[in-house]
Amino acid sequence: MNPLSVIFSSRCLSCDQVAKRLFCPECTRQIQLIDPATRCEYCFIPADKCCCKKRAAYLKAAAFDPIGPEWMLYQEMRSSRLKRYLKSMTAYLYLQFEALEWKVDLITFPSRGRVYRLLKGMPFSEELARKFSHLSGIPIEDVFEVEKQKAYEKKIETKDLEGKSVLMVADLCPKPYMDALIKSNAEAVYCLTLFTDQVPE
Ligand SMILES: [Zn+2]
Ligand SMILES: [Zn+2]
Repeated sequence: MNPLSVIFSSRCLSCDQVAKRLFCPECTRQIQLIDPATRCEYCFIPADKCCCKKRAAYLKAAAFDPIGPEWMLYQEMRSSRLKRYLKSMTAYLYLQFEALEWKVDLITFPSRGRVYRLLKGMPFSEELARKFSHLSGIPIEDVFEVEKQKAYEKKIETKDLEGKSVLMVADLCPKPYMDALIKSNAEAVYCLTLFTDQVPE
């Protein structure tokens, strides 16, 4: 089963034909990954339009350019606060993650548990971690329930990540947490920002 069918409807967002994923195969073929070599490494806008001269702390990955079939989705997301677009956007982010073809062994989620802990006790990040792991088939190494950077660094120090490629999933790219992972013995570290409109039951 295609993981996207769990979180998205059965119609192509662009041409409205019946599709098993966010876009039908024909529309998907029109979507291309950005080549990072053509972008400013800091702000990721086209290099010939950028004059920031800044260097990025990390290598940014290429996602899709807002052209072709997903231009409509992008525009509607920007002008709408409708919940159904949040779902579409989540599916779209997942599609980009798939297209990047990162080889990932483990996922970590820095969870700000106490802040986001919901009524029934499960932290929001933990719910997101479980769903993402279920969709991607990538095991969760741990859901770090920490609020302080130092506590996270300590936790990472005790982990044996030798030879592993680790994907950190968070609602924004937390630089201090990324730095801690980069200092570990993990072979590669990726970061993906993700959101959901669903509240755990
Ligand atoms: Zn289509
Ligand atoms: Zn720039």
